[in-house]
Amino acid sequence: MEKITDEFISGARQAIHEAHKVVILTHKNPDGDALGSGLAFFHFFKNLGKEVTFIAPNQLPVYLLWMPGISDVLVYETRKDQGKEIIRAAELFVMVDFNHRSRLSEVGDVVIPHKVPKILIDHHPYPEDIATFIYSRTSSSSTAEMVFEFIEKLFGEDAVTKSVAECLYVGIMTDTGSFSYNSSEPLTFAIVGKLLKKGVDKDSITDKVYNNFSEHRLRLLGHSMNGRMRVVPEYQTAYIFLTKKDLDDYHHEPGDTEGFVNFPLSIRGVVFSAIFIEKEGYTKCSFRSKGSFPANLVAKEHFGGGGHMNAAGGECKMPLEDSLKKFESILSQYKTYLNPPDHE
Ligand code: 5GP
Ligand code: MN
Repeated sequence: MEKITDEFISGARQAIHEAHKVVILTHKNPDGDALGSGLAFFHFFKNLGKEVTFIAPNQLPVYLLWMPGISDVLVYETRKDQGKEIIRAAELFVMVDFNHRSRLSEVGDVVIPHKVPKILIDHHPYPEDIATFIYSRTSSSSTAEMVFEFIEKLFGEDAVTKSVAECLYVGIMTDTGSFSYNSSEPLTFAIVGKLLKKGVDKDSITDKVYNNFSEHRLRLLGHSMNGRMRVVPEYQTAYIFLTKKDLDDYHHEPGDTEGFVNFPLSIRGVVFSAIFIEKEGYTKCSFRSKGSFPANLVAKEHFGGGGHMNAAGGECKMPLEDSLKKFESILSQYKTYLNPPDHE
């Protein structure tokens, strides 16, 4: 559903009204939008007097650990028994920033069969039918923007407190690369205006999100650009790869490589970039593109993933070197999406 209809409003409002125990869920490897949207709901439900738990499938990025309410997030990977118990007792699920069961990883095995109302709010394409009430708008800048619309429509602007607003601002800011992409709709800025009126200190949030890393992370970024980036001019592509040893050598903390994949796009002529990170038994891949190059198609067709046209991700169940070979070998399939060479 691309719009919040009257039917959606009355159904979702009733489900919220009737539930006391609420569980909020987001996707694996949560980013600023996932945590911002989930934490905004966490504060909102607390303000309504609900018993609310926000469950994330796995580790949280260290650079977001300052966010209001984050210390209350239950990381399923490390507290499975408690997580299962809370999920089984839930009377309502609110799911944000994903629309495929696979994005919940193991948490989905407990959540999906539990037949209580589920509200899903998300901006990724091709939603799966995994919820009772689905608000899905692919053109939205971020899930956080949609969470604002949802709370405002159902409960009025007063329900957006300062903490709710701060969390939503983090979601919108990070998912638009600080308003440099996915942010051409006036609605995004109208909502940001309303968040600022709630007392959000945007400069301080920018500082906390982007200037809050270890020295090692900046050196890892340098190493990635200098020694771990390959450019394939023929396909207007550049990619980075990092081994487990690289991550160890630079004392990697969760979230440290977030954003690295964007840098190759600053090379003149490059329209497609990727990063491959060596994990235990597989390779994690992220893709970014410019214009009409479909990064999500590459993720979907070859790396078991998906995402947006210009930002997507997936996994490769192969060692790092083989994943890189595979990537280079499939690039020719996407030649039609490349810009034609300039004519003299
Ligand atoms: P990132 O590269 O920042 O991890 O993710 C970029 C986009 O791709 C996000 O919208 C995210 O939801 C999506 N994405 C990342 N990894 C996966 C994946 O493994 N599967 C799917 N379906 N989407 C992913
Ligand atoms: Mn998002």
